[in-house]
Amino acid sequence: MKESFLQFLWQYGLFNAQELKTTDGIPVQIENRGWLNKNSGPDFLNARIRIGEQYWAGQVEIHIHSSEWMKHGHQHDAAYDNTILHVVFNNDMDICRRDGTPIPCVELRNRIPAGYYKRWQELDQSLSGVPCGSRFKEVDESAKLSMRHRALAERIIGKSMVIGEIATQTIYHWDEILHRLIARYLGFKVNSDAMEQLAMVAPLKLLRHYAGNQKQLEAILFGQAGLLRRGQREKYMKELFQEYDFIAAKHGLIPLNPVIWKFSRLRPANFPTIRIAQLAALLHRRIDFLDEVLKTESLDGMKKLFYCRASPYWDNRFSFGEKGLKRSKNLGQESIQGLVVNAVVPVMVAYANHRGNQELKDRAIDFLNDLPPENNLITRFWEKMGMPNVCAYDSQALIGLKLLYCDKKRCLECSIGQQLLQTEEKIHATECQSLG
Ligand code: SF4
Repeated sequence: MKESFLQFLWQYGLFNAQELKTTDGIPVQIENRGWLNKNSGPDFLNARIRIGEQYWAGQVEIHIHSSEWMKHGHQHDAAYDNTILHVVFNNDMDICRRDGTPIPCVELRNRIPAGYYKRWQELDQSLSGVPCGSRFKEVDESAKLSMRHRALAERIIGKSMVIGEIATQTIYHWDEILHRLIARYLGFKVNSDAMEQLAMVAPLKLLRHYAGNQKQLEAILFGQAGLLRRGQREKYMKELFQEYDFIAAKHGLIPLNPVIWKFSRLRPANFPTIRIAQLAALLHRRIDFLDEVLKTESLDGMKKLFYCRASPYWDNRFSFGEKGLKRSKNLGQESIQGLVVNAVVPVMVAYANHRGNQELKDRAIDFLNDLPPENNLITRFWEKMGMPNVCAYDSQALIGLKLLYCDKKRCLECSIGQQLLQTEEKIHATECQSLG
């Protein structure tokens, strides 16, 4: 048995508490089980419990065997002085506080529903992507819905925290933050870190000087990406290098090492060369997006804002030099939608939180309701499980649920996992009562 199982039982009150008594036979009435302490010290803080005639407020410590109190050295630790109850599976030893007063103990051994631990283990130990998969249909829609909302909120909070780190680095320069997020998104996972690094070495405060000239923007971005070299034969590359050489000398620029860029196993449309050219086009159309983003109320407005087309040089190329079929390299509808979901909305939410602007935050979430759903491995999986995926809000929630809960095996914190365990409890309730 694992201690975390007992913690889980105590946290959610999933044990038979009828006629609960200490190991000395004194009646125990739980008013509040306290809240789980994820830091060092006792397992539960701020519990309120009546033991006999005495009302107690303090901490609860959980162990499989009560003798673990000694093994863990709590008898020497002042942090445990205010322990009001010791909750154990098996009481094999009487325990005292540092001052010698005994700590009341409750034994759960005969109060846990049969089969409950096995089910908990299945959820806790399963190595498959979604441990609850085989019983998913048994769960109420309300538990699934509440979990989707929670996962979405956590996914947005997680993104906001990443943005918070960038905000600290840029001293809350929100234009620069959005610039980095846009660049990062254009890296499409494989080159997202490299694109973010590029935005750091080619910040808006530099690019603003050259915003009116798309070729100069390309020169700076490709130059800082380390993708331009002296001695190019092709005319366009030569011109870009000359521009970059001059600008780099003027501003003391240091390029990135080109080894960071990945081309292999990418569709040519996602080559970093195309994405950098599109970033240059985007910045040429509008260098400061934040003001416009904050003003834009409709999804159509957002789509217009981010529409861009790489310069004509790229019409028949995916990388420098090699010519192919002519096709303009504009940022497609799907890419713009992904940009809004993954860069614009998180920045809007982080900005709204920073400014305490609830209306802006609501508008950002509304964009997720208006945008079409994502279609990827994770969303397809959940759709097969019967989860709705009709808009970007749903997709983000489903992705959040898989990445933040299922993959981290947080089934015990998930309302779906909790309901499955409780269902198991109901099945065995009669058996449990007879045990109590
Ligand atoms: S976290 Fe929730 S949805 Fe995911 S596997 Fe566990 S119980 Fe199922």
